[in-house]
Amino acid sequence: MSVDLDTWEIVVGLEVHAELATRTKLFCSAVNEFGGEPNTNIDPLTLGLPGSLPVLNEHAVELAIRVGLALGSEVSPSSFARKNYFYPDLPKDYQISQFDRPINVGGSLELPSGKVIGIERAHLEEDTGKSTHVGGGGRIHDAGYSTIDYNRAGVPLLEIVGRPDIRNADEARAYVTELRSILVAVGASDGKMEEGSMRVDCNVSVRRRGDDELGTRCEIKNVNSLRSLGRAIEYEAARQVDLIEAGERVQQQTRHWNEDDGRTHKLRSKEEADDYRYFPEPDLVELDPGAEWIERVRAAMPVLPAARRHRLAETTGSELEQTALVVERGLDELCLAAIEAGADPVRVLTHAEHNLSDERSLKLDPEQFAELVKMETGGQLTATQAKTVLSEMVEGAGSPADIAAAHGFEAMDNSELESLVDGLIESNPTEWQRFCEGDAKITGFFVGQVMKATKGQADGKAVTALLNTRKG
Ligand code: MN
Repeated sequence: MSVDLDTWEIVVGLEVHAELATRTKLFCSAVNEFGGEPNTNIDPLTLGLPGSLPVLNEHAVELAIRVGLALGSEVSPSSFARKNYFYPDLPKDYQISQFDRPINVGGSLELPSGKVIGIERAHLEEDTGKSTHVGGGGRIHDAGYSTIDYNRAGVPLLEIVGRPDIRNADEARAYVTELRSILVAVGASDGKMEEGSMRVDCNVSVRRRGDDELGTRCEIKNVNSLRSLGRAIEYEAARQVDLIEAGERVQQQTRHWNEDDGRTHKLRSKEEADDYRYFPEPDLVELDPGAEWIERVRAAMPVLPAARRHRLAETTGSELEQTALVVERGLDELCLAAIEAGADPVRVLTHAEHNLSDERSLKLDPEQFAELVKMETGGQLTATQAKTVLSEMVEGAGSPADIAAAHGFEAMDNSELESLVDGLIESNPTEWQRFCEGDAKITGFFVGQVMKATKGQADGKAVTALLNTRKG
């Protein structure tokens, strides 16, 4: 099942719920911690007992402000509202959320490709408890019974609502990856999708290319890995295109992604805001952080991934996308320091991209990394030898000069190489004639002979260059 992208355009908007890395819950002092014994991190407020009152967690607000600043949102005076619905994991029968006045308004996020995705809002709300449906494949419909764990109930969430600017599964994955990097960079969340710290709801619609109006969307729940996200979008877009091409209409629905059968299934017709009977939370006052607090938070912000990519691309004169992996691995500081120490920027970036995937690379000494690159660009090491030396530097084997010496990687004297090549030409006249006639395949023969004679110390590119000069 795949969509003909010449005819159809896929439109995706993502809503991400991120659990904030506070010590305690959003409105009480119960501990915010993943993986405890069920129903141990609870208190009267978590359980919605009569008479318990919410008190807002200051640290959660600070983390929300950090994310807002990172996304370029306007951090605004906000208020809380009750979102009413019945569900066993929500003992109060309502969720305290932000509705018409969210803390973070607007903003954007830049993907490693340079494409910018708009952000609608990022608001604070409390998480629900966790139901487990036992038997019947884990779904409520045919379960024998269900258990409930309130440890997660009341954990602070930031719901980040993106604009429908995403056009395919790759962009959706890039968006979630980038958002996770930002959340981790500012210390707002651990971003662990596998532990539910980041949960993605995915709005998908399709329209014919050239149409301005958005098609009817479906919201897909339960997308809890990057792989599922891509698969769910592709499946859902194809389902909608099939419906429209068969003359039917897409109905607005909330759908559930089933990883096992690779399909989305209808959960319910989409509810609208009216269904939730939102009204202002009477137990909490307005939240206005004020300019001073916001500026204090801004002053302590780290350099964010997008800015780091731009900085590295500018310093190395490379394409923006080429810096993504290096920044993701946290190697950009090392690269910049090595370049500062005089190493060739392009070689530095190439090594970081291809030869520094080992986590120990983060501990490399930038001076020594620079030294290695200088040995390579100075002709003392071939590209292959430099790679070998670098991998041993990562393992902590010492300075590049020592490692090179231990391997016997010494630069070949050029005159030595010349006489070797001349000798080969003389003793292999047939092969030489083929080379002169333009038989490219025979180049390997000469390079191979030189490598054999020098035990691999010669630079293959230098040998080829030399052969070409001898062609006359
Ligand atoms: Mn929500």
